[in-house]
This record gives sequence, C-alpha cells and structure tokens, in this order.
Amino acid sequence: MSEPVSQPVSQPPTPPPGALEPQPALLRTKADLAAARRGLPAPVVLVPTMGALHAGHRALLRAARAAAGPSGSVIVSIFVNPLQFRPGEDLDRYPRTLDDDLAMCAREGVRAVFAPSAAEMYPAGPPQVTVDPGPAGQVFEGEFRPGFFGGVLTVVLKLFHLVRPDVAVFGEKDAQQLALVRRLVADTDLALAIEAVPIVRDPDGLATSSRNRYLSAADRELALTLPRALRAGQARAAAEDTHSAAAALAAAQEVLRGEPALAVDYVAVVDPRTFGPPGPGSALIVAAVTAGGTRLIDNVPVVLAGGQNTERDFRGAADH
Ligand code: AMP
Repeated sequence: MSEPVSQPVSQPPTPPPGALEPQPALLRTKADLAAARRGLPAPVVLVPTMGALHAGHRALLRAARAAAGPSGSVIVSIFVNPLQFRPGEDLDRYPRTLDDDLAMCAREGVRAVFAPSAAEMYPAGPPQVTVDPGPAGQVFEGEFRPGFFGGVLTVVLKLFHLVRPDVAVFGEKDAQQLALVRRLVADTDLALAIEAVPIVRDPDGLATSSRNRYLSAADRELALTLPRALRAGQARAAAEDTHSAAAALAAAQEVLRGEPALAVDYVAVVDPRTFGPPGPGSALIVAAVTAGGTRLIDNVPVVLAGGQNTERDFRGAADH
C-alpha cells in the first residue's frame, strides 16, 4: 500500500476573462419576471436603465452588488421607455446593445436582466393613468422636455411594482430624476430605499452617457465646454468669500458664452431636492446643452454660504 499523498494547497485556477461568469437570466415578460422574482434571494436590488451600458452604469451595478451583500440579488432592467420620448427625439435611434449589456451584467454579478418590449410593458398602448411629477417636474428638464418626467416616473413606478426591490440604485448624473424618484417614494409611501451613485466621467471630464456615441470628435471637443463651465462655477463658489450662487452661475455662464456654437438650454444653481432656488449649504450647478445635435446634461455640487441667494440669481437662461 502506498502512503497517502497530501494534496498541494493551491488557488483555483484563474478563469480566462468571461469564461465562467454565470450568465444573468434574461427575462422578456412580466410572467418570466414574476417567476424568477420568487427565487431571488433578498435583499433584491434594482438598477433601472435604458441599456447601452457604459462605465456610469457599471458604477451603479457595483453599488447595487455592494448593497445586495454576499447573499442578495441584483436585477437590472433595460427598457427604452417610449413614454419619455417626444416625437422628433431619438427613440428610434437610441443605441441598443443587448449582447454587450448582458456581458457587463455577467461580469458584475447581476442575477437577472428584465428587458421587456414596449408592448409587454404597455399592452393596452400608452397608459391612461400616469404619475404627475408635480412642480419640480415642470422646470429645467421638465420645461425643455414636456412630459418627460411623467413618462419616467410612470415606468419607474411600474418597475418598482413588478420587481418589488428592497433597494433601487440611480445615478446623480440625472439629478432632477433622482430628486423626483425620491419624492415619488416619499409621497406614495413606497417601501424601498433609494441609493445614489456619483457621476462617472471619462478622463477628459465628459460625464459618460449612452448618447456620447452620437458625438463626432469635433462635437466632443465642443461638448467638453459643459463640464469645463460647471467646474469654473464650482471653483468660483469655493474661492469667493461669499460662496454665492450668483458668483458660481456667472463663472459658468462666462465659459458657456465663450463657445457660441454650443446651444444652452439652461444653467442654474438649484436646491438638489426641490430644484428651486438654493438655500445655504449643499446645492447643484445644473446645465443642459446641445453639441452638434446631441443634447447633454451634467451637474456638479457646490456649497453655498447663507444670506445672499435670491430667486433672481439662481438661474441663467439661454441668454447668449
Ligand atoms: P440611462 O440608461 O441613461 O437611463 O441611465 C440609467 C441610470 O444610470 C440612471 O440612474 C442614470 O443617472 C445613471 N447614469 C447614467 N450615466 C451615468 C454616469 N455617467 N454616472 C453615474 N450614473 C449614471
């Protein structure tokens, strides 16, 4: 008889990239989702998206994975919601990259991807009963994209009902959307927590976005004026003794005026919860521009001192 041979202690071999990642379940119908939901270990964390996933979404997936903990589940929804596009916007040409999206979800430990058709989500056509986003949904994005937040909040509420998540993760990139989703949860007593993830930027400073792929090299150069203007506003607010909204706004406007090819919808310093005039403390500089036909939004945080902010100086219109 031979002596027992002791096994060398070794690490499991590193799989080649992508080889052994469990694929998320791809759910196309509400019935498939309901069946899969029953087997998902809690806590269940939802990341709502329109797909064409990029580094910004990846940060949300990682935050979701952390919120789910070792035993919970991350579920991603991918749905280009017709309700939030107006005629003439980019609904038909919005990028759709499902295979790549599923690969990213697999790498980030996502358990299930809910990717329904419009007919599946709205079987009777556009819904008759929708969510009214209230006054904070009428300004800024709501003013320039009428009906947008009604469409967003309606689909978000449907996703919350269908998935029944314990936590849902949203990006600060869409700061007004985040504020309105928080308001939806508070005002309608939804039993889930909302987690926010800071903006992810490319090395040149542009916030990552599914729509950035529309930009030519020249458009992208032009688009970089947006984060540059916001940084100038942020720096001015931090440098001035007054920490004033007016000074921050003026600095951002000055940079935007220097680039007349950029069409500015709005630039403003706002309260991050109400999108009204800011008080002392945390505020956001928000802006929306169009560079070579592509509309982009962005924002940066600022801290304001008390006493000097007025209705008059929180908003700069498209005045150049
Ligand atoms: P979308 O697919 O564009 O509807 O975005 C889905 C979610 O990803 C939203 O909560 C966005 O705010 C978030 N998101 C998109 N881009 C970024 C980014 N660059 N940084 C952080 N979050 C982002």
